[in-house]
Amino acid sequence: MAQTHYDVIIIGAGMSGMAAGIRLAYFDKSVCVLERHYAAGGLNSFYALDGHQFDVGLHAMTNYVRPGTRGAPLTKIFRQLRLTPEDFGLAPQHHSEVRFPGKTLRFNNDFRCFVQDVVDNFPAQADHFVRLVKHIQEYDELDLEAPPRSGRAVVSSFLSDPLLTDMIFCPLMIYGNAQERDMEFGQFVVMFKSIFCEGLGRPREGVRRIITALRRKLREVGGTVRMKCGVQALNAEGTRITSVTLDTGEILTANTILSSAGYVETMRLCGTDHATLAPMEGRLSFVEIISILDQPMKHLGHDATIIFYNTGKEFHYETPKNLVDARSGVICCPDNFLFDKPLPESMIRLTCLANFDGWNALDEPAYLRAKTEWLPKIQQEVLHFIPDFRHHVVYTDFFTPRTIQKWTGHLNGAVYGAPEKLKTGKTPIENLFICGTDQGFLGIVGAMLSGISMANLHVLKRAHAR
Ligand SMILES: Cc1cc2nc3c(=O)[nH]c(=O)nc-3n(C[C@H](O)[C@H](O)[C@H](O)COP(=O)(O)OP(=O)(O)OC[C@H]3O[C@@H](n4cnc5c(N)ncnc54)[C@H](O)[C@@H]3O)c2cc1C
Repeated sequence: MAQTHYDVIIIGAGMSGMAAGIRLAYFDKSVCVLERHYAAGGLNSFYALDGHQFDVGLHAMTNYVRPGTRGAPLTKIFRQLRLTPEDFGLAPQHHSEVRFPGKTLRFNNDFRCFVQDVVDNFPAQADHFVRLVKHIQEYDELDLEAPPRSGRAVVSSFLSDPLLTDMIFCPLMIYGNAQERDMEFGQFVVMFKSIFCEGLGRPREGVRRIITALRRKLREVGGTVRMKCGVQALNAEGTRITSVTLDTGEILTANTILSSAGYVETMRLCGTDHATLAPMEGRLSFVEIISILDQPMKHLGHDATIIFYNTGKEFHYETPKNLVDARSGVICCPDNFLFDKPLPESMIRLTCLANFDGWNALDEPAYLRAKTEWLPKIQQEVLHFIPDFRHHVVYTDFFTPRTIQKWTGHLNGAVYGAPEKLKTGKTPIENLFICGTDQGFLGIVGAMLSGISMANLHVLKRAHAR
């Protein structure tokens, strides 16, 4: 039987894989997106439990700008994917906060308010901060060849107050850093611009709306998506992948493979031995508690959209020794985006760093017991910052790093993938490239940009150059 051949096979129907697929199919490449699960979206998918609708990941989309804002990443995504702002239907946040003992910084989608708040709270740091902002704004974070630099070292060369430094790093690390304790400076700049300079937004329908828009566009431009279609092996001859074996045993061929499965995960598919790859695995993961409430948090007097909190003297961004580190985390109230009508169900999301190995070692009864033990501990910790909502909870789901690994294939449930990124997307195999999380642009917007730029760089530009 003849094997099916494509110009490009893409592994994964997450944000980066779908964006790459649209871009390539639009330019008449034959494209097949292969996804192991029955639902698209990967790290940011959706599910239903007992009649309640949940998003896996979506707290907020970063990079929110008003429609048509020139030069912004979101505008670039709409242009390159031939989508419109209406396709995503983003509503802006009300405001968010970074809360540390004795200090609060507020930000919204107007960067000047954040600068003013830093100046008001840290007057002795005002000039230093303004110089740091200038340095960030002039930095070219899209330079794929830039050597990695320590973000903490660069920021500390501008700011002398460690509290302000920690308060700035806290949201940027929690929302997009695969490295423990430090953050590569280029990645710091990406996240600073995405969260503070631009801002946060969310579709009222959650991530479903974004996934639906991407899938519809992919279909319209002629791309193929095959769900429940895992890639079991990438078969190499010399330095090229010559065929792709699916979980079913079916064999496909393609000129180019783009993989969003993660670098280590992809190289394992090529047969590279596990021990060689182990040092490159990502480790940082999270637990998330999503509670449906009988009323929005604003009825209890809480109007912040997101709070990034830290209760300790210092901010520790590292794999916890316990199952969870509840000393820092995120409190997200989706009702507190400026939607034109209320959400069908009110909810609150609590997110904390977690230890994959610890959760993974538990047998089923111990795993369920651990969830029951950690739920009230995490709730208790966040009550330092928000009104007591516990009597308003009508349903709760609690997922762990183990859940994340199970549903996305990312080893160790590593939400931001490997600590070392492959910015050029190149692998040792000449027709295999990485897009998404391990290429280095993180979050929903970052992943889509990654898919677009890797498709442009490794398929469309090469074809043009021939
Ligand atoms: C709890 C949580 C909260 C988050 N919150 C936010 C947020 O508020 N805002 C934000 O912007 N981002 C958030 N993120 C991050 C964001 O979801 C990711 O950065 C982004 O979705 C990554 O997309 P991706 O395409 O790179 O990878 P993925 O989403 O991981 O896509 C990879 C896909 O490949 C598939 N796959 C893997 N192996 C195979 C195989 N062998 N064969 C076939 N298919 C395979 C997987 O099933 C998956 O669908 C969050 C993530 C999590 C987990």
